[in-house]
Amino acid sequence: MTIKRITLHGIRLPLKRPFKIAYDSYEEIESLVVSIESTRGDIGWGEAVVDQHVSGETWQAARDVIARELAPLLIGQPADDIGAFHRAAEARIRHNPSAKAALDIALHDLLARQCRRPLYSLLGGRCHERLELPCVISMLSPEEMARQADEACRQGFRSIKIKLGDTPEADVERIARVREALPPGMALRVDANQGWSAKQALEVIRRAAPYRVEWYEQPVFIENLEALARVTQATEAVIMADEPIHGLRDMLRVIRLEAADMVNIKLMKSAGLHAARAMADLGMAADIPCQVGSMVESSIATLAGAHLAIAHPNIIANDLVGPEMIASDVAEMPGDGTHIPLDESPGLGIRVDGDRVRELSVFEARID
Ligand SMILES: [Mg+2]
Repeated sequence: MTIKRITLHGIRLPLKRPFKIAYDSYEEIESLVVSIESTRGDIGWGEAVVDQHVSGETWQAARDVIARELAPLLIGQPADDIGAFHRAAEARIRHNPSAKAALDIALHDLLARQCRRPLYSLLGGRCHERLELPCVISMLSPEEMARQADEACRQGFRSIKIKLGDTPEADVERIARVREALPPGMALRVDANQGWSAKQALEVIRRAAPYRVEWYEQPVFIENLEALARVTQATEAVIMADEPIHGLRDMLRVIRLEAADMVNIKLMKSAGLHAARAMADLGMAADIPCQVGSMVESSIATLAGAHLAIAHPNIIANDLVGPEMIASDVAEMPGDGTHIPLDESPGLGIRVDGDRVRELSVFEARID
């Protein structure tokens, strides 16, 4: 059985409310949805959501990379050889991890559907009982963030992640106000999205000590892994690396430099599940627990992350909240927004609405 056809749709997904982080703000999400069809008629779905501040890819550029460089490598090839795809893709073009992730996810979905097994079975089997989701709160006024945190508690969330990266004064105030709004057992996590210098990060961490922050994600600039290492080594607070850590070699650099206590793996940085799994393995060998994060992705890429997260013993948290932020998704996301249930359905476990994908489509390409 080989790969017959690949279809690519560029779609725009409106958000329920604008998403604001330290380096940008978003009202809608630009996504690339791919489907891979085998000669037997099975279809696997994948998705890329680029973040140009992180991987340097744009929506249009990723479309061209998928349509012209990567998808043609797959036509006529065996549908079950994901490693061969990655070797060919690396030989063809460097970087472009989100474009590669779209096809990697579709290949995994296709393979699992052909096996009539849920994707997590192919990734090591279910090892966690439940995938709890955090409530992610944009960087807004302290009062508004506290109000949203209070609302999240009522909705049944057990952890809150707040977006920061402003001045230390303003951010300590936000942490304090949000903590006051939470019951004692509630986990509070901070993501500065590179917004602080190393000294500012240490100042925030020192002043926010009474507010019990579970971990601080990417306090400093993406290019400065040495600064991240300085922060990590100067504090007892738990520091998580995100934006600079794309693939396996970056994971190795974190370990060698002792640059972070945890790593946020994202399929859009790692070129998909294939390397993400190896990164989580390497982290486990070095006592670095991992989170599976996400860009603001639809149910397609989000569920790929969820299957990895539930299958890997070293993935202890996730940030798979895209579908909760999207006003109208391309498939029905399982769960109530506070957790992701995964059942025995084959592949990613969703039925993608092909008509809706076509409806939302701004551009389309067919490779066969
Ligand atoms: Mg982050």
